[in-house]
Amino acid sequence: MSRLNSMDEALTEARAAGARGETPVGAVVVLDGAVIGRGGNETRARLDPTAHAEVLAIRRACEAIGSERLVGADLYVTLEPCALCAAAISFARIRRLYFGAADPKGGAVEHGPRFYGQDTCHHAPEVYSGIGEGDAAALLRDFFRARRD
Ligand SMILES: [Zn+2]
Repeated sequence: MSRLNSMDEALTEARAAGARGETPVGAVVVLDGAVIGRGGNETRARLDPTAHAEVLAIRRACEAIGSERLVGADLYVTLEPCALCAAAISFARIRRLYFGAADPKGGAVEHGPRFYGQDTCHHAPEVYSGIGEGDAAALLRDFFRARRD
């Protein structure tokens, strides 16, 4: 599965989250060319502030392979991960992180705490940003515009 196809899968999850009234962010975990976990934000449905797309995708991927770590797996997410998700990605030993739109307000990879650059971070994935950025950013923009109107 190519990078763009994988990000398309994450975008599909993001759209589904938006349709449920959640913040439209989606993520997939890919191992050996196959999606092994997917998720979109479910904080409202689950009454759980930690039910972010990345966390749910990681949980499902771990369940799918019966492991607490996802060595060799890559995570695709439509938006720059927050501090919670950046840490979860590190703990899961994700190999590569691909994200779409940058998040100057809440991101923790290239903004804010820059989690992977800290001495207390013991596993940092390779990071590739701007994959499918336009679609991810448009989705979020439309969502927040609709909520304001
Ligand atoms: Zn998050």
